[in-house]
Amino acid sequence: MLPALEKLLVLQHCDQQIRDVTLALEALPREKESCDRDVARAAQRLDAAQARRRELEKELKKLDGDILVKKEQINRYKTQQLETRKNEEYTAFLHEIAVAQKMIAEVEERQLSLMEETESLTQDLETAQAAHDVELKRIGKILSTLDGRRENLLKRREELVQERPRLTGGIEEDFLERYERLFKSKEGSAIVQIENNVCMGCHMKVTTQTVLAARAEKEMISCSQCGRILYNDEDDLVLQRE
Ligand SMILES: [Zn+2]
Repeated sequence: MLPALEKLLVLQHCDQQIRDVTLALEALPREKESCDRDVARAAQRLDAAQARRRELEKELKKLDGDILVKKEQINRYKTQQLETRKNEEYTAFLHEIAVAQKMIAEVEERQLSLMEETESLTQDLETAQAAHDVELKRIGKILSTLDGRRENLLKRREELVQERPRLTGGIEEDFLERYERLFKSKEGSAIVQIENNVCMGCHMKVTTQTVLAARAEKEMISCSQCGRILYNDEDDLVLQRE
């Protein structure tokens, strides 16, 4: 292999690690955001169920009050009914009492349905609370590792960055520039192997002439399709079949 190519391959290995570490570092805040969103969602579900239960309790209490008022009203009517000597008034009170009793029955029916809702809501709350607890525990675990992972990644990147200048030593300036341009534009794969006459960068077939030129190891060979720098595999048989 061309000595320059060999050096570039070592450099590429280092650059790929720097790239991977950098991408992993960039993904960490997104991971944290997604955790925060999950926590908020779980809390929201719980809050909604709790708010509805408070509403129900309030309404049930109010209905108790309504019934009490109606019962007092009925008692007053009954007293007045006993005191009156007029037949029409007596009948009128009878009617008022019946109306009040009907209203009490309606309120009691409404109470019953609210109590049923409260019961099913209590089950929902238990489920929501359990889901919330599980979610918090899961996310807590992830979050607790984030700082440590970040520290490790930063440390690793620092080591690689410090190592890099040693690897570029002795590589001709124009080779290095060409490599660096490719590494950037081809997202971390500037130098690729030819395998079975195929460029492993773009996965297109290369010409026999390219294979031979790469094999000759006299100069840097590029893929005519994607422009990546190529190095040859050692498989003679493939070449002979051409
Ligand atoms: Zn290619």
